[in-house]
Amino acid sequence: MQQDIIIVGGGMVGLSLALMLAKAKIGVKLLEAIKYPNYDDANLAPYHSSFDARNSALSRRSVQIYQELGLWDALQEHATPILQVDITEQGSFGKARLRAEQEKVESFGQVIENAWLGRVLLTQVRQQPLIDLIDGVQVTALTQNEDFASIEAIRGEETLTLNAKLVIAADGRDSFCRKALGIGASVHDYDQVAIVTTVQTSKPHGHVGFERFSHLGPLALLPLPGEYRRSVVWPVKKGTEDEWLGEENDQHFLDALQETYGDRAGKFQKTGKRFCFPLSQVLAEKQAIGRVVLMGNAAHTIHPVAGQGFNLCMRDAYVLLRYLTEQQAKNADLGDAEMLLEYEKSRLKDQQRVIKFCDSVVRGFSNQNPFLKIIRNTGLLAFETIPGIKPLVANYAMGLKA
Ligand SMILES: Cc1cc2nc3c(=O)[nH]c(=O)nc-3n(C[C@H](O)[C@H](O)[C@H](O)COP(=O)(O)OP(=O)(O)OC[C@H]3O[C@@H](n4cnc5c(N)ncnc54)[C@H](O)[C@@H]3O)c2cc1C
Repeated sequence: MQQDIIIVGGGMVGLSLALMLAKAKIGVKLLEAIKYPNYDDANLAPYHSSFDARNSALSRRSVQIYQELGLWDALQEHATPILQVDITEQGSFGKARLRAEQEKVESFGQVIENAWLGRVLLTQVRQQPLIDLIDGVQVTALTQNEDFASIEAIRGEETLTLNAKLVIAADGRDSFCRKALGIGASVHDYDQVAIVTTVQTSKPHGHVGFERFSHLGPLALLPLPGEYRRSVVWPVKKGTEDEWLGEENDQHFLDALQETYGDRAGKFQKTGKRFCFPLSQVLAEKQAIGRVVLMGNAAHTIHPVAGQGFNLCMRDAYVLLRYLTEQQAKNADLGDAEMLLEYEKSRLKDQQRVIKFCDSVVRGFSNQNPFLKIIRNTGLLAFETIPGIKPLVANYAMGLKA
């Protein structure tokens, strides 16, 4: 069977991009390895695939894209705005604060439950006639020639062979497609795992997002729907995760949060189940080759320290959409290799800035050397006092300046 476009991987990026393409009247076949759930009202948003226990901080730009897709009204139900961001380091006096009001924006972004994002995206995809979704199908071969890219995939006992003008590989950090095409990747293991959960505090969150650098790792606390619920992402040293996971460690975990945050959030009263995610940076050496383009984590997986990974992927997807819409309008080849290389080139600056920023923050704040602590403190103070720096950083964080 010959298609125009096949997307491999129906995670956050694959589903979002499929909806962008469909909105632009470009049909697509979407292949996802995991069998998606059927939603019912008893279990509003079950965890599955990449729609797990995590909450994502969506930048203003990502929110705008979902608004353009007409999805924001449905997403908003499980999202909450960030009106202030506080950055501090445990044991230091420096503090950086960004306020939406001061920067004259309605919010810096919105925190959304991934599982709810999954439900809304998937429901839309299932209703969209221009998207042919096949789940429970594992892509096992990818080759290409001048005229088309060819995929083999296994669904149960059945083997599917599909050809397409363009293959978009959105199959995650360990991308099968990337490997099948012989594209190398530079890998840096941060030797950390992110502990992820939801907690309840005695003080309302007031729509404030906290990033607190501690000797255990950079702890992010983000506001969630419900005044007292907050999302926790806490990267800690790999190998120490057993100390934090499991119901028997609930109190120990709450105590550690309390010690690290002090009383800014009041008392940490309750914790949900903790999940853990290994953290590494994986950067593909090429993002476009022939008729295949890598998207999402398959192209660049970064540390979640500043909540930028998915937002960067959304900006990539949006730019790719622009190139494909232009090709479609000209009735030109959607898998044109030159066009894909141009797309890749156009995205490098934004990608490298975000990748470098997140990596430097992790490395810069991991070192507990007292001299470096003073430098970090000076940096946080400078952030507060140097005119013009806040709007610049805020615009980058919101994804409005690429
Ligand atoms: C703890 C944590 C917190 C984060 N918080 C934020 C945040 O606040 N803000 C932000 O912007 N980003 C955040 N990120 C980053 C964000 O989660 C990722 O950028 C995003 O999940 C990437 O999605 P993806 O669709 O590219 O990959 P994935 O989610 O990995 O999806 C890949 C999909 O491909 C499928 N697949 C794989 N192989 C095959 C195959 N052979 N055949 C068919 N299908 C296949 C998989 O089943 C999967 O569904 C965070 C990351 C972590 C780890």
